[in-house]
Amino acid sequence: MRFISTRGRAPSLSFTDTVLTGLATDGGLYVPESLPEFSAEEIRAMAGLDYRELAFRIIQPFVGDDLSDDELRDILERSYRHFRHSAVAPLVQTDTNEWILELFHGPTLAFKDFALQFLGQLFDHLLKKRGERVVVMGATSGDTGSAAIEGCRHCDNIDIFILHPHNRVSEVQRRQMTGVLSDNVFNIALDGSFDDCQNMVKASFADQSFLPDGRRLVAVNSINWARIMAQIVYYFYAAVNLGAPDKMVNFSVPTGNFGDIFAGYLARQMGLPIDQLVIATNANDILHRCISDNDHSPRPLVHSLSPSMDIMVSSNFERLLFDLYDRDGAAVAELLADRSAPMQLDDRVLAKAREVFYSYRVDDQRTVETIRRVFEESEYLLDPHTAIGVEAARKVRKSTEQPMVCLSTAHPAKFPDAVARALPTREIPLPAHMQDLFQREERMKVLPNDLAGVQRFMAEALG
Ligand SMILES: *Cc1c(COP(=O)(O)O)cnc(C)c1O
Repeated sequence: MRFISTRGRAPSLSFTDTVLTGLATDGGLYVPESLPEFSAEEIRAMAGLDYRELAFRIIQPFVGDDLSDDELRDILERSYRHFRHSAVAPLVQTDTNEWILELFHGPTLAFKDFALQFLGQLFDHLLKKRGERVVVMGATSGDTGSAAIEGCRHCDNIDIFILHPHNRVSEVQRRQMTGVLSDNVFNIALDGSFDDCQNMVKASFADQSFLPDGRRLVAVNSINWARIMAQIVYYFYAAVNLGAPDKMVNFSVPTGNFGDIFAGYLARQMGLPIDQLVIATNANDILHRCISDNDHSPRPLVHSLSPSMDIMVSSNFERLLFDLYDRDGAAVAELLADRSAPMQLDDRVLAKAREVFYSYRVDDQRTVETIRRVFEESEYLLDPHTAIGVEAARKVRKSTEQPMVCLSTAHPAKFPDAVARALPTREIPLPAHMQDLFQREERMKVLPNDLAGVQRFMAEALG
């Protein structure tokens, strides 16, 4: 399969080249030229499959001839081997036809492991085949960094540099990154904000001349198509376990960069009968305002109890726009180029989005109340991101006759502050494999907010 840019002016790429790049040269994001579609009969046959086998069926059409069936199966086997629940993505019921899809059983306790364990294995395989060694560089406000490091730490052909804002990630999040002492892992604590980190990564991708000869940068954030692709799988997995294709299923997704929920949209395009996709936001509600009022004006960033959703510009929204504008790259480029005024969607486009997308905003206080209420109702403990999804689902779902699946994006132990506010007397222990997290030796480099200095550090480490 070939992959094309959302802005229509970059060359099309193979699956392998798409995975091993960053943005397209025209500034767009790569998407498949066409989507595979599954018939009702094919979807019915997915019920009861092991997670890895289901992943194989969903992902294989995108990969085409770039990997043999055995190679892909082997990569998937390695990707989900370190999940601590044999169902990989188990469903738990919390109310009448309300289900929690637990996506936090991977090594770093957040759903990002689904894509980044896979991406690490995929990189390693493709790079060995090519005999190439690359440099992964990424910025994180918390969860992406640790999941990327866990995904790449055992990869022979990767050196990974993760920038995080010094003293501005939680201790659990920091230790999950800095406690990995592998020779190919470099944590940079930048004296600056998350945006400063991200700007440095962007500038480094744009001009890679600071790298030693023969090395190049590869992206691990959700602009990388392989991350979105890996996330399509659990929508199918949950839906067939709840009666699809003979029943409609709905999903509520705590949303930041729009990667996770966009995977749900793709699952629907590929034939899964989804009625409602709920965009659940915290106080940083630009996507909610966009869907409800066509208001795409930026507002100052608020630091919330759900930090992984504290995002102003959702990069993957561009992939949706490309689809809504009938895959017209020039139209998308024009829409995004005019920075003089906030983006305005055509009425026709907005109406199309509203056929499937619903949205709701949940502030910190309601988040805490939801954690408490759900615990009182069912003794189920939600993390703050998941709580936002549950509350939004309860507010916008049309009926309880169809299943509503709330994606649980993190384990509550990862965000103890929010949980302590809801249930002050309750301890939430870290899972067994992380019990020693606070005793682990840490390694990181604190650097000033200076691009040349960061690049010099990287060049020396690679030299
Ligand atoms: C990354 C993240 C999100 C947001 O996912 P997007 O794909 O960026 O929309 C939600 N919850 C948690 C816990 C996360 O780590």
